[in-house]
Amino acid sequence: MSLQVRDLNISYKIGKGSIRAINRVYFQLEKGDSLGVIGETGSGKTTIANAIMRALPENAEYSGSIFFNNKDILKMDQETYRKEIRWKKISIIPQYSMNAFNPIKRVGEQLVKIMMENDSNIDTSKASERIFYLFNQLSLPPEIYKKLPDELSGGQRQRVVIASALLLDPELVIADEPTTALDVINQARVISLIKREIVDKQKTLIYITHDIAVVAGVAKKVLTLYAGEIMEFGDSRKIFKEPLHPYSKGLLSSVPDIRFGKVKKVHYIPGDPPDLSKEIKGCPFAPRCSIAKDICKVEKPKLRYVDGRYVACHLVGGEENGQ
Ligand code: ATP
Ligand code: SF4
Repeated sequence: MSLQVRDLNISYKIGKGSIRAINRVYFQLEKGDSLGVIGETGSGKTTIANAIMRALPENAEYSGSIFFNNKDILKMDQETYRKEIRWKKISIIPQYSMNAFNPIKRVGEQLVKIMMENDSNIDTSKASERIFYLFNQLSLPPEIYKKLPDELSGGQRQRVVIASALLLDPELVIADEPTTALDVINQARVISLIKREIVDKQKTLIYITHDIAVVAGVAKKVLTLYAGEIMEFGDSRKIFKEPLHPYSKGLLSSVPDIRFGKVKKVHYIPGDPPDLSKEIKGCPFAPRCSIAKDICKVEKPKLRYVDGRYVACHLVGGEENGQ
């Protein structure tokens, strides 16, 4: 598996104007990578997921490329994507599991349908075998097979969604805020299952969240996104230990640190993200950045390679990203 996102730009048309949701995003992942995409609400995380899933809404306009195993999926027609990629190669665990199922059909029946519609070599008995195997892996009782979605608890439903994403053994799984609707105990459970069933099994994971603390547990790489632009991207241990971009620093200092028995004071980043319907000159973070200089307001910082990660900040030096 290889995923290369190249110069991705996405905007949404609204009336006579448009919202520029993603601006010049580049990143690449290999088999077994796990990437946490973090950023405040509206930073463009779901837009990236939808672009990879070929599920952008009709008012979206895009340019750039998303090479999946060397084929540009943005240039594929929907039918080819649906037949060759969705579920089989790339699947998604969405935010709200409630919407993922038909409320009047039994869970097992719906999962069998997904499998049979997407793989002509699978019959009902093979499909059920795989479903019961996944239920067992995800600590779901076999009785769930015959239940209606409404008869499941929130935690069970989200685990069934994880099972559905894994049914056809995809190479890349995108988890878009998969624990949002869950209580703390089920959140921890779902996160550890995602780690065990996706990351530990050498599949590639993109985990989208605004909760930076979760990313530390599941992702080997981190991408901080702000106003649709990459602020920092690279090795998660390095970024968590010593974030270089002021926005990553701000996100990290807004999380209580209870490691080694220390309780760090929590700071919030003052101000709000910019209005994406207006042109942004310079660094999008400048209005909220406590160390911004004059250049920051007029010139966009380039993504540079510094100490094991890419950083877009005028005040952090390094080699320019040649892309
Ligand atoms: P959240 O954490 O709230 O899910 P996000 O980081 O996933 O946010 P996106 O949902 O990708 O962000 O949205 C990025 C920007 O694009 C936001 O300003 C959002 O309002 C806007 N947007 C998203 N979908 C549409 C749409 N269909 N039409 C117009 N604007 C949209
Ligand atoms: Fe702050 Fe300037 Fe760096 Fe942007 S480029 S994060 S405004 S110092």
